[in-house]
Amino acid sequence: MEELNYLKLKELLPSNVNLLVVSKGFKSSDIERIHNLGQNHFGESRVQEALDKKIFINNSGNIKWHFIGRIQTNKIRKIVQHFEFIHSCDSYRKLLKISEVALQMQKVPTIMMQIKLLNDPSKGGMFFEELKEKWDQIKEIKGIKVNGLMTINPKGLSLNENLKLFRKCRSLADSMNLPECSMGMSQDWKQAVEAGSTWIRIGSLIFGKRTI
Ligand SMILES: *Cc1c(COP(=O)(O)O)cnc(C)c1O
Repeated sequence: MEELNYLKLKELLPSNVNLLVVSKGFKSSDIERIHNLGQNHFGESRVQEALDKKIFINNSGNIKWHFIGRIQTNKIRKIVQHFEFIHSCDSYRKLLKISEVALQMQKVPTIMMQIKLLNDPSKGGMFFEELKEKWDQIKEIKGIKVNGLMTINPKGLSLNENLKLFRKCRSLADSMNLPECSMGMSQDWKQAVEAGSTWIRIGSLIFGKRTI
């Protein structure tokens, strides 16, 4: 079933859109099954959950892990150690910390900055104005590669409202010459793709209801 959902989705996606399979709430064996179909990019939002699962996955050598959850400063060391991509950095201060740790570990994480386009207290994210204001400084930070924006739309919007916000995110990324836009989840990925997403983040559409 999961395999079929995955393959169907892959078939629908334009070739320039990357699929991040979000495995939070699902087991190592679920990850393995999708990995066996050739999927290498997996997203997790809790550090400990991800690390607990990682040890049980066979042939995990070419899996690329993406961190998509809220970043707690005291977890940054583990995040940098275990995740090549970070979609959810939402402050300048955290970027500096990521950079400091990355330089120590000789890693260069790829980062998409999480922005919020509407005031949604339930979601992380920087306002774009804040990001823009710090941009010249951000570009100077060593040990990281910031290559895109990430956004999560508030719940309960119409398809058309989702589309509008995603287009806004795309145009802001373009205005800063950032190629990547991480946007679109199980409920709204079609609108995100229409608006120019380059990374959709999909969990339940593939795996069903989260179980752990
Ligand atoms: C859980 C999660 C997803 C996947 O959500 P689904 O609705 O299950 O596809 C995508 N992005 C983030 C940031 C998440 O936390």
